[in-house]
Amino acid sequence: MGNMLFTLGALSLLLLALVYLLGIFYPENEYLIKLKEQESINIFLLTSLASFGLGLLIRILSPVKKVFKNKCKRCGAKIPEGDIYCSTCLRDLKDLY
Ligand SMILES: [Zn+2]
Repeated sequence: MGNMLFTLGALSLLLLALVYLLGIFYPENEYLIKLKEQESINIFLLTSLASFGLGLLIRILSPVKKVFKNKCKRCGAKIPEGDIYCSTCLRDLKDLY
């Protein structure tokens, strides 16, 4: 969800940047002048900025979530990221060998 918003926002901003860049290189191009004069381009800019910002925010916040998503492979208890088993299962496994 966050990644999709981020990509969508980034692509829209890239597209807008391209339009403005083309406007610098071809100032007399009628199509580009008309495109920039339209009200909808401002709405488009705001929407892409909003989705880009929201996607970025979700991306920043998501690693925090992942820590709690990690589960023990044996019993499913919540464990810190990088661990495979919880401390109880680890002790049980050590007793088996
Ligand atoms: Zn466990």
